[in-house]
Amino acid sequence: MTEQEIKDVVRGVLRNMGTDTKADVQTAAPSKLMGIFEDIEDAIAAAKKAQKEIQPMPLEFREKIIANIRKKTLENAKTLAEMGVEETKMGNVGHKILKHQLVAEKTPGTEDLSTVAWSGDRGLTLVEQGPFGVIGAVTPSTNPSETVICNSIGMLAAGNAVVFAPHPGAKNVSNFAIDLVNRASVEVGGPENLAVAVMNPTIEVSETIFKHKDISLLVATGGPGVVTKVLSSGKRALGAGAGNPPAFVDDTADIQKAAEDIVNGCTFDNNLPCIAEKEVVAIDTIADELIYHMEQVGCYHASKEEVEKLTQTVFATKNGKRILNRACVGRSAKVILSKIGVTVGDEIRCIIFEGDKTQPMIAEELMMPILGIVRVKDVDEGIATAVELEHGNRHSAHMHSKNIENLTRYGKALDTAIFVKNGPSYAALGFGGEGYPTFTICSRTGEGLTSAKTFTKSRRCTMCDALCIR
Ligand code: NAD
Repeated sequence: MTEQEIKDVVRGVLRNMGTDTKADVQTAAPSKLMGIFEDIEDAIAAAKKAQKEIQPMPLEFREKIIANIRKKTLENAKTLAEMGVEETKMGNVGHKILKHQLVAEKTPGTEDLSTVAWSGDRGLTLVEQGPFGVIGAVTPSTNPSETVICNSIGMLAAGNAVVFAPHPGAKNVSNFAIDLVNRASVEVGGPENLAVAVMNPTIEVSETIFKHKDISLLVATGGPGVVTKVLSSGKRALGAGAGNPPAFVDDTADIQKAAEDIVNGCTFDNNLPCIAEKEVVAIDTIADELIYHMEQVGCYHASKEEVEKLTQTVFATKNGKRILNRACVGRSAKVILSKIGVTVGDEIRCIIFEGDKTQPMIAEELMMPILGIVRVKDVDEGIATAVELEHGNRHSAHMHSKNIENLTRYGKALDTAIFVKNGPSYAALGFGGEGYPTFTICSRTGEGLTSAKTFTKSRRCTMCDALCIR
């Protein structure tokens, strides 16, 4: 999708929201937010009570609540997007509106739950998907309210309540989204506190959630630290961790389209989505053409000296270790370039440079619209390089090629939860591609793109010697 197309969609969304729906946009003061508590024990107790209320209710009623969550998310998409950018200083409002719209419209609800049945001479056996109860969900700063809304829809569709541990740097927008979920429920006659959190989330609050006897499933969306934490908790845990998705372009690809797709995917919400293209691997014979087309669609080609300066700027040091400079994460190319004294116009949306696979801005997950390009001599070297750059995260990888064999080999070698072929990375989330969206992709624990069924337990229900009416 080009920048212009994105602007047109955003304009359409804003027009549709109009002044009539403005009255529905929430203006609650923080102290009045539904589902937000001072104390984590009170929050968990309230979620437990709400889950007991929702579980016996018909699926149709869960759907009624979910329909209202969808409606309120659409009505508040602009507010949520603006709050997210304002609070985290990351991403951009237009793309965040689209992300909220996507989650509101396409996150699966109760239709995602299925039943398996065996019927025969000895009766009828069903396997149904039931709720875990109360889920503890850690959410990131990069897609904060998108993850809260998406998790809430899926977890509630499966009959659960959820205690959120939002990133402290995104607590206001996350808690606002939690309030929205509860308001949506109460408005249609459902319980309050289907989603809860505390006013001030901290690591200590998360530790309490991880150990709490009333929480039976943990879901962590974030970097490697938090995923390792929940996986060592002793509870069942789903880990949606970090990636470093390579985009490989071979010599059979439509090079101009590949350039456009890669830049569109990489720059979406300033590269915050974990699935977004983080570096490019290109066969030498087409690399110059690819770079030319990338420059045509808003890329700034950094010189060697500028690459040095950028490397000094986008990383910081903590306890002797290289870490990301948070003042660069999720910022636009224009802002990042300004930090090294380069002034560009708004048409520049991505920074590109050529480098070796060990260059830190290529090897590490930046979450910035910066794409290092690694030249390789052939497909074999390209696949091997992409495997190395993905670091075994098994998260996401993308390829541009018309050769089915090359695509197949790449897919098998990378072995990732997401593999987009001949399109921008966001196509995997149902945005310009088939399928449903989620912002919790369980790469590390293998569930892949989560939805309502991911948040269920299997239950077998057997009737002996009856109810088979064949
Ligand atoms: P982060 O790891 O800094 O924080 C994520 C969440 O974990 C926050 O709520 C944070 O408070 C919490 N957290 C971090 N360390 C913790 C600890 N030791 N104990 C308890 N809680 C802890 O990540 P972020 O910057 O907010 O998000 C970006 C990262 O998340 C990237 O690595 C990105 O790839 C990943 N991510 C993955 C997915 C996915 O679906 N796989 C989705 C979004 C983001």
